[in-house]
Amino acid sequence: MDIQLQTQLFIDGQFVDSANGSTFEVENPAEAAALASVAEAKEADIDRAVRAARAAFDSDAWQRLPARERGRLLHRLADLAEADIDALARIETLQNGKPYFESRHIDLPEAIAVLRYYAGWADKIQGETLPAADGMFNDTRREPLGVVGAIVPWNFPLLLAVWKIAPALACGNTVVLKPAEETPLTALKLAELAARAGFPAGAINVVPGFGPSAGGALVRHPGVDKIAFTGSTEVGREIMRAASESLKPVSLELGGKSPNIVFADADLKAAVRGVTTGIFYGKGEVCAAGSRLFVEAGIHDEFMEQIVDRARKMTPGDPFDKGTRLGALVSKQQLDRVLHYVQAGVSEGAELLTGGVRVDRPGYFVEAAVFDKVKPEMTIAQEEIFGPVLAGLTFEDVDQAIALGNQTIYGLAAGVWTRDIKKAHRVAHGLRAGTVWVNTFNRYDPTTPFGGYKQSGFGRDLGMHALDGYTQVKSVWIDLS
Ligand code: ADP
Repeated sequence: MDIQLQTQLFIDGQFVDSANGSTFEVENPAEAAALASVAEAKEADIDRAVRAARAAFDSDAWQRLPARERGRLLHRLADLAEADIDALARIETLQNGKPYFESRHIDLPEAIAVLRYYAGWADKIQGETLPAADGMFNDTRREPLGVVGAIVPWNFPLLLAVWKIAPALACGNTVVLKPAEETPLTALKLAELAARAGFPAGAINVVPGFGPSAGGALVRHPGVDKIAFTGSTEVGREIMRAASESLKPVSLELGGKSPNIVFADADLKAAVRGVTTGIFYGKGEVCAAGSRLFVEAGIHDEFMEQIVDRARKMTPGDPFDKGTRLGALVSKQQLDRVLHYVQAGVSEGAELLTGGVRVDRPGYFVEAAVFDKVKPEMTIAQEEIFGPVLAGLTFEDVDQAIALGNQTIYGLAAGVWTRDIKKAHRVAHGLRAGTVWVNTFNRYDPTTPFGGYKQSGFGRDLGMHALDGYTQVKSVWIDLS
């Protein structure tokens, strides 16, 4: 397939070079080879993009556009993405290293579904009339914030961009999107489609560049009204600090160390499948990855055996091969990070049952790793690895399962496997996490809110809950006396 990449910044409806002409290399991690040279946004470019977004926000073309027309534009963007789905999926896999199957049959269809879901919301965002003082008419309006700065990571480059862009636009904001430096290419392609869909110039701007320079400039810019961020907890902290200068609201979807808790009464076949895909899907580079496995003591040996068996079938290899279940990690840096954590697990005394070694081929491949005899305080049970490494622990009863499940700084997601409905509810209620999956894992839907408890962040992506993060409420009083 011949694919046309976009490699310039997208500002004010045009693809342009960066002000000082600088560029950076994007790599194909499955081959450890250069993929494209992309324009690098720096402070001056971010400023230009924010000004374009601000002018677009203030323009009649946007302010007077009927809400249903914003919905129609989002539907049209979804149509164009659908027509180009193979190319988009291919670019996603080339830049991220994930299996093409995942890009083509999961990421892209989900991104399109999210665009359509928020297209439907565009003309359903409404206020209320309130019984305020006698002789007064009081109503509320849910108004857009203005210019939204969206900063997204490299693990689901297009999907997570759409998680922010779609509700932001549906609510009537304009957007400056900074994709991750590893994976800017699908976001740029989406910008091309947005222009074709008929979005006014400046409504969507895409500015690839590095975190502290491009991302930092966006966070500090006084013309940006809100930062919507998905990424690491560490960078989330930095963003919140920087945003405090201009008192910008932020929504942060951060890291996780999600537990998968398997009771002896569970459908074990389903649990084995759920636990392995829960950690190895997306190479474990998934913020909700079920990276801590808690197995009830009575079934421990049998269960771990099956997990190891299945982990060994997670063949790493060419992301475009049909048999590949584990793609390439996104970068050399990420590979080193994962190998470092495997080493930490071994040296702290956990037992490595399988995997955790680099595959002898070009590209950043590592074999699916399963640890047993992990203690809750060990590094691999506490820190987010963001790779295909499962930490196995045991528990004795429901209360201990809940306590151990909660024993990290994170609270993004959790899984529970049991046939006992009371146990399922007790654990689901007891876990401090934004999402709990019972007898399933890693399920997402445009209608369902997703976000963190504790240091996994705040604010919600998806569902009607995300609309709260892209609107503000105005109360209007009218004296009728
Ligand atoms: P990950 O661990 O998934 O790579 P990061 O949190 O490092 O996630 O990066 C997520 C996004 O945040 C990327 O687009 C990155 O460029 C951006 N970023 C990194 N550092 C900063 C920063 N100091 N200010 C703003 N954005 C940043």
